[in-house]
Amino acid sequence: MLSLDKIYTQLSYAEKNGLLGELKNVYERLPQTTCEKCATCCSVPSPAYVVEFLNMFRYMKNNLQDQIPGILERCIRFYFLELVDINSRCPFVDPVDNTCLVYPARPFTCRGYGLFDKGEVPGAGEEMLKLAEKYKNEFDITLPDEVVNYKLPRCGKVMVAGGKKIVPELLQTSIADVARLESGLFPVEIVDSEYTFVPFPTHLALTVLGEGARARRHKVMKEYLEQGSSPLLEGYMEKYGKYSL
Ligand code: SF4
Ligand code: SF4
Repeated sequence: MLSLDKIYTQLSYAEKNGLLGELKNVYERLPQTTCEKCATCCSVPSPAYVVEFLNMFRYMKNNLQDQIPGILERCIRFYFLELVDINSRCPFVDPVDNTCLVYPARPFTCRGYGLFDKGEVPGAGEEMLKLAEKYKNEFDITLPDEVVNYKLPRCGKVMVAGGKKIVPELLQTSIADVARLESGLFPVEIVDSEYTFVPFPTHLALTVLGEGARARRHKVMKEYLEQGSSPLLEGYMEKYGKYSL
């Protein structure tokens, strides 16, 4: 993931080489949609490539300066607690009115939600079971059943503007195009392994906290499960929420 000292170099590289301009073109090929903005689907932020994260980061820097401390605090909380607190949700949901704070720069997976045919949005079931087993074996942490068994409901309320028809191939070719742009930043083998395709709050949290946060994650989770709160987490939110980006 990108540390704070590398993110601006990468952002400038992506801008100069037209990667963010091309990303915009890919996004614009998708139809505009409307929905009821309940933010239910924002309880499980989906994966995004680094090139998309850079686009979101730039948007946040240019448009949301006064909201950055709140976003960072929510993002850090999400990173540590997403597997133990069923009420976790995307840090970019505006706490005031449930709207998306980064809507113009939201990643492909958010744009595609509700456009996939039934059966096409992958469920996390199998992966979550494996993760629950890993946490039990490695850290003696039992992830709550409500988190392990949670399934994002399919939403039938997404309306496509102008009655445009969704061609399923468009979604497939578009995500392939985003992956192609990612290979302008990382070797193809890394892109193919999906190592850089992680939930976007993870990108931002690790940029601010650093890679060392991975090793501290289970300690916070354990503290939270045992005590219902985590002094460690509160300390991180206090410290890193003040970072200026
Ligand atoms: S897509 Fe559906 S679940 Fe998501 S915010 Fe809109 S209405 Fe709610
Ligand atoms: S980026 Fe926006 S649309 Fe996507 S999950 Fe977060 S709040 Fe929802």
